[in-house]
Order: sequence, then C-alpha cells, then structure tokens
Amino acid sequence: MNQIAVLGSTGSIGTSCLDVIGSCRDRMSLAGITAHSRWEMLGRQSETYHPRWAVVSDASLRSTVRREIFSRHTELLFGADSIERVVCEPEIDVVVAGIVGVAGLRGTWAALEAGKRVAIANKETLVLAGPLVMDLAGKTGATLIPVDSEHSAIFQAMLAGRRQDVRRIVLTSSGGPFRGWSAERLNDVTPEMALAHPTWEMGPKITVDSATMMNKALEVIEAKWLFGLQSDQIEVVVHPQSIVHSFVEFVDGSVIAQLSPPDMKLPIQYALTYPERTEGISPRMDWKQAMDLHFEAPDFDAFPALGLGFEVAERGGTSGAVLNAANEAAVDLFLSGKLRFRDIARACRDVLNAHHFAPTPTLDELLQKDRWAREEIQQWKP
Ligand code: NAD
Ligand code: MG
Repeated sequence: MNQIAVLGSTGSIGTSCLDVIGSCRDRMSLAGITAHSRWEMLGRQSETYHPRWAVVSDASLRSTVRREIFSRHTELLFGADSIERVVCEPEIDVVVAGIVGVAGLRGTWAALEAGKRVAIANKETLVLAGPLVMDLAGKTGATLIPVDSEHSAIFQAMLAGRRQDVRRIVLTSSGGPFRGWSAERLNDVTPEMALAHPTWEMGPKITVDSATMMNKALEVIEAKWLFGLQSDQIEVVVHPQSIVHSFVEFVDGSVIAQLSPPDMKLPIQYALTYPERTEGISPRMDWKQAMDLHFEAPDFDAFPALGLGFEVAERGGTSGAVLNAANEAAVDLFLSGKLRFRDIARACRDVLNAHHFAPTPTLDELLQKDRWAREEIQQWKP
C-alpha cells in the first residue's frame, strides 16, 4: 500500500490526483494534503480521505481556519515548513509535487533529500534548478517521475529503446487558444480570453503560459534536465487535438509516441503506479469515431516566448531561474490588468538580457536571481 502526500491538493493537478487515489484504494492511500489558502476545500478533502496530515501553508490563516471541518484523524498544520515536515515522514512513500510556481521548490527538494519517489508536475522547480534537482535525486536515490503529460509520454516512449539510442524528442503543443493568430492580433488579448484553453482544464498560471506558449518553453527546459538531453535534441510541434502527447525518435528513424485523450489523470496515475499499470478512471480513445490528427510547425514570431525557452535550455546556468521568475511575475501583472499580453514575453526577454549570467550557480544564487528578476519585472516599462 503506497502512502501518498499530495502537495497542492486543492489545485487542478491536486484534485485530479485525489480522484485517481480514490479510484485505486486497494493499492494506495492519501496520507498528506496541502493547500495555500483554500482551507475549506482542504477540510472537505480531509473529511473524504482522512489523511494523517493536512497543511495550510499560509500561516496567517491560523486563526481563521475552523478545525472542526477537518477529519478528527487528520493532524492540522500551518506554514510552509510543515510541508517539508510532512514529506519527510517515514510513512510517506510518494510525494506529488502539484504546487504551482517556485513556491513548489521547498517541498520537492525536501522530498528528494528524504529519498522519496516524487511525481513531479511542478515544472518551475526544474526550470529554476534542473541540474541541482537531478544531482540531488541521484545522490539520495530518490526517483523522479514526470506528471507533465508531454514528459510522461516521453518517459513512457523512451522505454522502447536504450537511452543512448535516442536521437531526439518532439514535444507536442496544443498551440493554445490563439493558434494561427498573427502577432498584431495578439495585441488585444485580455486575461479572460487567455484563460479559455481549448483542450486542457488547468490552473490560471499554466493556462496563461499555454496561451503565450511560455508553457512549451518551460517544458523544453524541463525535458532537457529530466532526460539529460542537448537542447538541439528537442523539437516542438503544434498538435491542436492534444491526443499525441509527445514523440521519441531513435537513431534508426523509428518514432514512438504515447496517445490518450487530453486528461491529466492518466499521467498522474502512471507516475503513482509505475512501473505497473492499472485500469483506472481515465477516458479512453474511441477508435470507432473518425478523427484527424493534425501537426504543424510552431510560429516563433507570433509566440516569441518559445524561442526564449530554447535559448535558456541551451544556455543553462542562471538563465532558467531568471526566465521562470520573470514569467511568474509578468503573468501575475497580466492577470491583474497591469501588463498587456504580448508584453509578457517582451518583459521576460529584457530581464533575461539584463541579468548577470553565471554558468554553475548554487541554489542560493538561483533563489537570489529569482527575487531579482521579480523586482525587475515590477519596474519594467514597455
Ligand atoms: P493550480 O493553480 O490549480 O493549483 C495550485 C496549487 O498550489 C493549489 O493547491 C494551491 O493551494 C497551491 N499553492 C499555490 N501557491 C502556493 C504557495 N505559495 N505555497 C504553497 N502552495 C501553493 O495549479 P495547477 O494547474 O494544478 O498546476 C500545478 C503545477 O502543475 C504547475 O507547476 C503546473 O505547471 C503543473 N502542471 C499542471 C497541469 C494541469 O493540467 N493543471 C499540467 C501539467 C503541469
Ligand atoms: Mg504539459
């Protein structure tokens, strides 16, 4: 019986994860849940699953949260430190990193230090500190299994051959809600328009990232570190149906893909049961329906964020921390109406250009660059 802690259990990944765990009660159970501020939802999750621990990471809510809505089997904890405490508990086997943004780093890091299996959805941690994260996992023997659908697909497809025989990988992208739009037309995109994704239901930050294609940029960097690739071994192709989740091409020219309807429950479940597979609750392909699978090249001019991803994947060092933090801060400003859609990538480009690059930073140096980039974005002018 696998005991699972879900960090960010109230989010899009978190709630899908709880659905998966609820459907596999014979082989896994929910032992820990965390939320930043949505404590009422966390309380309902506690009542349904009776986990041993629940963490409200925003400690200022201590006097607001009503203890009585939580299961009496659940110990209620507050503050970000409590996330680290829970993931290190000896009875936790698997940690799902489902917190959004760099806020997810500490819990993921602590879980890797403790040698746990980590099902990682939180790509920002890998973009910020990919080499350090991979080193840490190597040292402690922790296992890192991707949850991001493209990376799960690559992880699965790579099992078809030897690592040294992989020529390149191709990440698919839905293209987001503005596929085919000219740069000029993108000038008038509002937060409301950017938050309506055609194929995936996700949290607000990653939905905006999908609209700018920064999400794919972050995924290129994520793939580079997770799979130990050179940046010129990674390609992106637009595939609006989101059925083929990515490809691996081997040296002989054979291409292996993973297909399934667009639903995160499948990659989540695979990360929890790997190397086994179970029936599960994810939707299935219906091969009786005719369907077209369309592929096209991405438009790097209309979506300049994508080029930033390749540039940062090539450069490494402090550039991932800077791009990631600049983007997080810029997306916040866009959602609050203070920055225009196309300015997200422009501001990221300027902050990347302005930063003092270091090739082999420590974690402290990366976190310092993260803070610096956020401040730069606040001062950025079009
Ligand atoms: P979301 O906004 O729906 O949920 C975020 C979760 O993180 C919530 O539980 C929230 O309480 C928690 N959180 C937010 N700020 C926090 C903080 N400061 N400290 C502690 N906890 C905090 O986000 P999501 O869409 O579920 O995405 C989560 C992560 O998974 C992101 O890194 C995203 O890129 C990645 N991801 C998501 C999807 C998807 O389908 N949603 C797919 C692939 C990857
Ligand atoms: Mg993805």
